[in-house]
Amino acid sequence: MATPKNPRTPKAAKAPKSPRTAAAKPDGKDAAKEAAKALKEKLFKEYPNLWDVASADDRSAAFEFAEEYMKMLDLGKTEREFTIAAVETVESLGYVDLEKAPKVLKPGAKVYRNLKGKAFLCAVVGRKPATAGFNLLGAHIDSPRIDLKPVPVYEDADMVFLKTHYYGGIKKYQWASMPLSLHGVVVKADGSKVAVSVGEKPGDPVFTITDLLPHLGQEQMARKASETLKGEELNLLVASLPYGDKDVSGRFRLAFLQLLDERYGVTERDLVSAELEIVPAFQARDVGFDRAMIGAYGQDDRVCAFAALAAVTAEEKTDKTVVCVLSDKEEIGSEGNTGAQSRLYVNFLADVFARTNGGYDEIAFHRCLENSKMLSADVSVGYDPTFASVSDPKNSAYMGKGIVLEKYTGHRGKSDASDANAEFFAEVIRALDAAGIPWQTGELGKVDFGGGGTIAKYMANLGMEVLDCGVPVLSMHGPFEVTSKIDVYFTYLAYKRFIEAV
Ligand code: MN
Ligand code: MN
Repeated sequence: MATPKNPRTPKAAKAPKSPRTAAAKPDGKDAAKEAAKALKEKLFKEYPNLWDVASADDRSAAFEFAEEYMKMLDLGKTEREFTIAAVETVESLGYVDLEKAPKVLKPGAKVYRNLKGKAFLCAVVGRKPATAGFNLLGAHIDSPRIDLKPVPVYEDADMVFLKTHYYGGIKKYQWASMPLSLHGVVVKADGSKVAVSVGEKPGDPVFTITDLLPHLGQEQMARKASETLKGEELNLLVASLPYGDKDVSGRFRLAFLQLLDERYGVTERDLVSAELEIVPAFQARDVGFDRAMIGAYGQDDRVCAFAALAAVTAEEKTDKTVVCVLSDKEEIGSEGNTGAQSRLYVNFLADVFARTNGGYDEIAFHRCLENSKMLSADVSVGYDPTFASVSDPKNSAYMGKGIVLEKYTGHRGKSDASDANAEFFAEVIRALDAAGIPWQTGELGKVDFGGGGTIAKYMANLGMEVLDCGVPVLSMHGPFEVTSKIDVYFTYLAYKRFIEAV
């Protein structure tokens, strides 16, 4: 049997014959061609570029949606900041903190919960009984970055630096020689909290991790890329003014700590219990002459988080109760009590269940979980022709071709994957197709080339159906990740369709 043509190259397969050539052919041959064309249309799956198929209204909606999304990216560069922005968003729409909500929630009731300032859940109560299950959209709002060590401050060569420990999967060399900002909280021994955000506002100073000049970089350039900049070389340059008295030892460190004390009331001891995160200092920007793409830090996974939050908050009345989950710690395995493995997520679902079911009943709650369905809303890799060798082009997601539905993630023989059930996958496709929302599929790179995980398997452990899906991204985990505006918008439409229709 002949190998079928690559279904991802519809243009080549469908190239129309010039009328002259067609006219010159005998009728029988034309009929055969037509039959083959019809058969292809029936049997092949084509994946159109969404810029080709989107209506003019959808195109302009995509550009408008991107504006809102980019504002949110600039507001929420860390999980804490994104949580604050999410809480503000839902409160402005009448959502009530679950802890202050009535014991009984009626259809249309809107509630949310802020999980320790670093993760977030919200729900709109549906008309169906709670045991029918919830429809969830679950994304994560932490991104790879660089954190401060507990004892960060040191001076060397009349400069002050902060020691760091990176968070999540980064290429360390990408973080040097660029403007960086510092975000987070210092919680002092007395429990008072100081919020820090320096490097974002126009006129703010920024910080940087220095790199070696090429003139003296011969030895460094011979290192493996993973060691071009080593973990202990990620030192953040933060000050260089000395304390006035020249006879004092450690006077650069002293002047810096004096400044921290005056400005924030923070001492070295307070930094031990701080959560301070270093991220790129630049804002989200349009990419390309045509402005069709978005470049920004932290689009993994705030692009899906924003789309999921927008989808749930667009709902007023739904059949099933719909839930938006914005989790923390995904980049380090969804650990800790703000990660998706935490009991806190189940607690929220149980609480909403109890208030919509006329009280808590363990068996009935488990039935609710079993009947629940979730899209694990996380980004996937966009096919990058410059690095084509890491992908299987037939099973890659392409920029501009819409939301990526991924049956499984994981690595090396699907280890650690939540492999979605075929029945559920087909149900999601059916819902999208019926609404005319194009989708594509793919997996994270070639077999045995790496891979990755999401929160899917942790939610699937609760018994619910889960499918991974999200926006394709270029330069994922780099300081400046790239998405396509049409993909972002159609991912939002897909999420909205899912919570309404399955
Ligand atoms: Mn992710
Ligand atoms: Mn990631």
